[in-house]
Parts: sequence; C-alpha cells; structure tokens
Amino acid sequence: MFAIYAPGEDVARYCYYGLYALQHRGQESAGIAVSDGDNILITKEMGLVNQVFDNRRLATLNGHLAIGHVRYSTTGASTWSNAQPAFKVSASGRGIALGHNGNLVDIGPLALELGARGARCTTDSELLTTLLAERAGAGSGPLDDIIVDACRRISGAYCLAIMDETTIYGVRDPHGVRPLMLGVLDGGGYVLASETAALDIVGATLLREIEPGELVAIDADGIRSRRFASAAPSFCVFEYVYLARPDHRTPETSVYAARRRMGQLLAEESPADADLVIPVPDSGLAAAAGFSQASGIPYAEGLVKNRYVGRTFIQPSQSLRQLGIRLKLNPLRDVLEGQRLVVVDDSIVRGNTSRQLVRMLREAGATQVHLRIPSPPVRHPCFYGVDMATEEELLASGRSIDEICRSLEADSLAYLSLDALISASRRPADSLCRACFDGRYPIPVPHAAPTDTHTTLPVLELAAHG
Ligand code: SF4
Repeated sequence: MFAIYAPGEDVARYCYYGLYALQHRGQESAGIAVSDGDNILITKEMGLVNQVFDNRRLATLNGHLAIGHVRYSTTGASTWSNAQPAFKVSASGRGIALGHNGNLVDIGPLALELGARGARCTTDSELLTTLLAERAGAGSGPLDDIIVDACRRISGAYCLAIMDETTIYGVRDPHGVRPLMLGVLDGGGYVLASETAALDIVGATLLREIEPGELVAIDADGIRSRRFASAAPSFCVFEYVYLARPDHRTPETSVYAARRRMGQLLAEESPADADLVIPVPDSGLAAAAGFSQASGIPYAEGLVKNRYVGRTFIQPSQSLRQLGIRLKLNPLRDVLEGQRLVVVDDSIVRGNTSRQLVRMLREAGATQVHLRIPSPPVRHPCFYGVDMATEEELLASGRSIDEICRSLEADSLAYLSLDALISASRRPADSLCRACFDGRYPIPVPHAAPTDTHTTLPVLELAAHG
C-alpha cells in the first residue's frame, strides 16, 4: 500500500515505483487512484505492477494526490472487481478510494446492516468503502470524523490508505498489526507506505511509523494527526520472519538484522553436524548467514532462484503454489554433491515447498539434509491478513516435530523457539502478535470468522440478498 500527496510531482509514477518496491506483498492485482483536486481517476487490473502499468497508462493519471495498492487475497476472490483501490461515490458526489492491508474480523453485523440497505460487497475492504461513502453522502461531517467513526465499528488488522478528491488519509488499527510508515519528499510532499523500502525507492526520508490507532490526513494545509483508539500493541512477528523485505526498517531494527539474529540463535539452540549451510532464497538468506556465522559451518549458495517467479506461498490456489515451487528453485549439483547440508528456510506453513526441496536436494547429490527453520512451528491460522486459512492446511498443526521431520523426509528438523524469535525482533514480547505460533489471538476472532478465505464471504452475500 502506498499513498502520496505532492503538488507539482508526477504522483502516479511515484505510486508506480512505490508499488514496485512492495510487489512482494501482493501479486494478484495492482491499482492506482489519482486526483487532481476535482476528480478521482482509478486504474486497476489483475497482474503485477509492471504488467498493469506502462508509460501510456501512467501518463493518463494526472493529479497531485494518489493512493496505490497491490493485492493478495485473504478475503474475497482474486478477481478484477475485488482489486484495489476500492472505489465508491457518495450520494453527494464525493468519491472515496480505499486501499487496505490486513483483514477485518467480525464484520457480520456490519455486512447485515449495509446489506439490508441494499449494499452488495464481496470483500471487507469494499464493505468499509461502502460505509464511508454512505456516511459521506449523508453529510455526516468531515471525512476524518467519518473514518474514525467507521474504524470504531470494525475490528481486525487494517492499515488503510484512503482518499477523496483533495486529501489522503493513512490509518493504522489500534493494535498496529501491520506496518505503515510516513516519509517526506525533498520537495515537501508526504508519502505513506507499508514498508520503508517503498520510501527509499522514491527518495523519501522516513519520518516515523504511523502509530497504532492513529489517523493522519494530508492535504493543502499540511499534515494533521489524531489518535482515535488505544489498545495493547500487537505487531505481526511474521513480518520479521517472512512478509517484509529485509531492507524494511522498524523503529527497533532492520528486518535483515532481525533475520540474521534468528539464524544465530537457531545455531545456538539447534546445532547440526554438517558441511555446508545453504539458504532457501530469498527469505532464508539472512538467517542462513547468521546460522553459518554462529556455527562456523561454511555458507554456500546451493539453490538458484528464478527471480521472475512470484513468491509461492502468496499464490491464491494450491495447484498454482505447487507449479510455482517447481518453477522457482533449481539446485546447484556441483555445490551440493556429497555434502551434508543445513538448509535454512524462513518458515514451514503448508510444507509443500520443504518436502519437494528435500527430495530435490537429495537427487542433486546431498548425503544429508538437516532443516533448520528460524521461526517456531506454524500451528494456528492467521485471521489478520496472512493466508494460512485453515488449521488442516498447516503441516505443524497436531503433529510433533518428529512427525513433521518424517513427513518432510529430512535427516533432522529444528525450529527456533518463540522466545528467541521475540528476542531477535528487539520488540517487547507483549507488543507482538504471534498467534500463528502460540494460538493467543490479540484481537478476538469470532467463531464464525471465514475459514475459506478465497471464496466470496457468505455473510456478505446473505446480507446483499437479505
Ligand atoms: S497470526 Fe501470525 S501472521 Fe497473523 S498477524 Fe499474528 S503473527 Fe502475523
């Protein structure tokens, strides 16, 4: 997610580069909404950022404020109509565009309420946009107040980039589950982005994180901030493990440094007798370097990644994921032949990648494969915006480490302890969400929370027809 307010600049192109830096956060669709102060124009399509936008398209998006989004679906199908920014026009003619990073929970009552008034929504993000447009159309005051009122009616994980014709808004949920950063351009414009890498790519200087429960509004009068709620912070620890780019910086650490520490701690907790440490690129790279440094076992690159294939875990269906794994990694036989390997991968979610990987490494001549995972076993689903839909899909759910190791056909398997992961993040334990590891959900998840996150939400359909 990316947003910019910068009069005199080519904001669509800034958005394009910002989204390009954030492509790893969503690969199904991309969209940009731009306003010139009077009208909002939106372009969104299925595909990667550089497939959706070219010079010709960007040249049509003129204005001085913009928001952009790359999507991977956790609620609602992967379709054009669900691509973001979502857009609604209020009864008073005001346009509202919205990009959402995260996942709302317990939206049933709101869906029923809007459905009873004829709204037809297929994602939590569309539902929220509809609510904002409805209130704006009813003349319920400034959009800041309308957004704050709406946020008090929802729960879950949400970072939002919202715009009307004149103003961009950045919102972070009261628990601060997902990251949202604020930067400033040399020329004086402001930028909001999910990760600092997107600020870096457009030459913006990082000012600070948007705080949990904070709304910022940026327009011709400058930047305004207000806190609309406070709650115990619960930043997603999986951002450090897998989601964020290694060059993302949180106030405490860079993700790269955290991953390196994870590898070092893993080597101390679970040493292995081996000849080489090899990473599974890219998210295992830093932890493998840390493991090698702490263990003294030489580091080598034994797998070549096709850099033009998307992240396997983030693809929307099982069959696509399996195809992606085979396309993605190729073993280097001259490095691996006759070697006892420590293989460092960031995490094991469904286990598809790991099982195929172990077989592939043996076929390439490795004599032993010791899996070392710099995060704990993922035993619980995420309801806050990461696609780990159901417990049945999770390899570690209900299985011992020995059983997982046998199922992956590895010679040994060890995970990093949760305490060590928390320590590597440099954040206090009670400021982190780690529910996928320990099952303690910081935001209540109603029993009716959708489990198949890639279908149209039944409650919303019901509401629409009810
Ligand atoms: S459940 Fe896991 S992936 Fe989801 S927000 Fe919490 S730590 Fe992150």
